[in-house]
Amino acid sequence: MIRNYYGKITLSIIKPDAIQNGYTFPILMMIFKAGFSIKSIKTMKISKKLAIKFYDEHKNKYFFSHLIDFITSGPVLSMILNKNNAVKDFRKLIGDTNPTVAKKGTIRNLYATSLNMNAIHGSNSNENAIKESLFIFSNSSILL
Ligand code: GDP
Repeated sequence: MIRNYYGKITLSIIKPDAIQNGYTFPILMMIFKAGFSIKSIKTMKISKKLAIKFYDEHKNKYFFSHLIDFITSGPVLSMILNKNNAVKDFRKLIGDTNPTVAKKGTIRNLYATSLNMNAIHGSNSNENAIKESLFIFSNSSILL
């Protein structure tokens, strides 16, 4: 049951820019080195329908259509990552949303292209980690 992992998982997506720029492997290495293990993983192309559902909280923002166009623009790598304190520690590892202010050595500082094309997603709360994991992975495919 995924709920048993509350507080110990986060949902990550390596975004189309990072995949296209060849950064998948270095990003995965950083994730492993930081102590995360992969519970579920898949390559996929996110549909417009899923993207709109996934980013619902931003639906009234000026950048919403850019966000949807970008995340659906090419293949992504989605993962459920496991570690104590997963959400908080992963947000620290990826750095600020805006790569120009992301701390040195964070994934977004090293590999993001711009604010819109910022290489990687990480859930922002334990609740969202569960919700987003279930958006991307069907219950039966989650290796928990
Ligand atoms: P995250 O949790 O760090 O990914 O950030 P948010 O959930 O706040 O935003 C989702 C995504 O929308 C971010 O990863 C950015 O790519 C994009 N985004 C957020 N704020 C802005 C903004 O002010 N301008 C633009 N162009 N994109 C933004």
